[in-house]
Amino acid sequence: MPVQSVYPRLESLLPLVRKPIQYVGGEINSVVKDWDDADVRWALMYPDAYEVGVPNQGIQILYEVLNERDGVLAERTYCVWPDLEALMRQHQVPQFTVDAHRPVRAFDVLGVSFATELGYTNLLTALDLAGIPLPAADRGAGDPVVLAGGHAAFNPEPIAEFIDGAVLGDGEQAVLTITDLIRDWKRAGRPGGRDGLLLRLAAVGGVYVPRFYDVRYQPDGTIGAVVPNRPGVPRAVAKHTVSDLDSWPYPSKPIVPVAESVHERFSVEIFRGCTRGCRFCQAGMITRPVRERSITTIGNMTEAGLAASGFSEVGLLSLSSADHSEINQIATDLADRYEGTNTGLSLPSTRVDAFNVTLADELSRNGRRSGLTFAPEGGTDRIRKVINKMVTEDDLISTVSTAYASGWRQVKLYFMCGLPTETDDDVLAIARVAHRVIEAGRKASGRRDIRCTVSIGGFVPKPHTPFQWAAQCDHETVDARLRALGAAMRADRGYGSSIGFRYHDGKPSVVEGLLSRGDRRVAKVIRAVWEDGGRFDGWSEYFSFERWAACADAALAGDGVDLAWYTTRERSYSEILPWDHLDTGLDRDWLWQDWQAAVDPAGAAEVEDCRWTPCFECGVCPAMDTQIETGPTGARLLPLTVVGPRGDG
Ligand code: SF4
Repeated sequence: MPVQSVYPRLESLLPLVRKPIQYVGGEINSVVKDWDDADVRWALMYPDAYEVGVPNQGIQILYEVLNERDGVLAERTYCVWPDLEALMRQHQVPQFTVDAHRPVRAFDVLGVSFATELGYTNLLTALDLAGIPLPAADRGAGDPVVLAGGHAAFNPEPIAEFIDGAVLGDGEQAVLTITDLIRDWKRAGRPGGRDGLLLRLAAVGGVYVPRFYDVRYQPDGTIGAVVPNRPGVPRAVAKHTVSDLDSWPYPSKPIVPVAESVHERFSVEIFRGCTRGCRFCQAGMITRPVRERSITTIGNMTEAGLAASGFSEVGLLSLSSADHSEINQIATDLADRYEGTNTGLSLPSTRVDAFNVTLADELSRNGRRSGLTFAPEGGTDRIRKVINKMVTEDDLISTVSTAYASGWRQVKLYFMCGLPTETDDDVLAIARVAHRVIEAGRKASGRRDIRCTVSIGGFVPKPHTPFQWAAQCDHETVDARLRALGAAMRADRGYGSSIGFRYHDGKPSVVEGLLSRGDRRVAKVIRAVWEDGGRFDGWSEYFSFERWAACADAALAGDGVDLAWYTTRERSYSEILPWDHLDTGLDRDWLWQDWQAAVDPAGAAEVEDCRWTPCFECGVCPAMDTQIETGPTGARLLPLTVVGPRGDG
């Protein structure tokens, strides 16, 4: 059946909404393929506004990997703002892709990448606008298979009711396996209908299909068991891991947004995974082991990406970019290559103990100095030991001195509040750290106009980390500590005016905590919030804690659990956690021992990085049949040859 673009119906609505350009598509490097030439069609969604979603690396990689294949088509869709949502409902315009404005319901798969759980209500908006039933159980032959991916998919239980499946881990290979299974199933005449496809995906596609697992609860509200209810589906679903990142050099043709977006640069992922072992960090734990991209591939990708996009900034992306075994060489060689152009290099966030003078010089050589961000996370050496962030205050002072001496005027420091064992003093100490940073910066630079911005987020215990058992700090305590810290910094005569302070109150973290460690019963809360108008929960102007609290009270009333039960309650070793059947490769006992090491009353014990020490047996490498892949390769990037116009000789 021909699939019509909805654009003719959408176009007349666009003058009536804010930032209409975000809905028109046509970006450089976007792809529109012939519908009928494809036999498997993906709609890829980032469940936030275009400006946040369009630079997302995960979506850009999958978009390119899928569109490169013959017979496969992928388009992108984002969450529309409430002004357009209202008009779309009024004029019966369905959720559409920005590439060819095709209705999302016409695709075979809707793949949604969740970087944060606060996008769950936006998923419901998109499904509803698309005309796809919210409960997965109500979907029929004409509906796409709805698959969740991204970091939040490592505990998809709160949205289990709304998705058909979840894909854990690296997506590049997984989407191709899923595509092949869908194609085979369609060619075979769709045996078993929708259920037959989901069974194939669960049995051989590495997809977690929640409906094939029954969850039993105990009278105290905890989980009694999670058991497969179909033969052939695995008891535990393993994450996907791509080895050899050099074989997957994506994106090579980055989308260049037509509207303003949060990152306007070409980002090249220089390695994946992190084994530093920060105990709060879900990204670090679930992406193990470390797999570096070689300096040669990084150079090739940068050259191709800049040529294809015209961006003038290259972001060297990873969880801790300065830890790449050849980072100095990468920065030096790229700075050499682009010397004399206005192409700048940036690192998204830099470890305090990995930053050095060479890096500082090379990042600033071509004239641009985007802000430097360091994340000490905790205000005292004691709390940093608890979270296994092995940097001292003196390390930090020496690092920021290097940065200020190298010409940076502004350094951002990121901290968390509400960490396990945290005291008021741990947070108040951040004021002293900021004071020392400015003092050291003035001395190193010889200037008084330097600044430091302290940015603080509320800590949220995350699944698959040593802190998955921790009690989350209540928002009243977090807010009181942040108020006291703000007052201490303002009271710092002489230095306070050089220190910026950014923080959110503790309430959104509590909701994020509910959604991060929730189970299937939390779906009722998400749906109630969405029906009550909840949208864009990651945006403070839309987020309503009162709405979430009221909906949680009402929706969970019959279950004997509540918001506090999900958030501020410490879990025991023996409790079955909602995500225990989802396998990151991390050994549960290793995580538990690490949790105990963190809260040891005699003082926290630290764990080294296995990149540079013997393996300490977290379990990932043997479980996932992977290994740490690091250099150095010893290779260098040659200067780029300037190619003259044809006929120049
Ligand atoms: S199994 Fe060993 S080498 Fe592999 S990530 Fe874990 S600690 Fe590191």
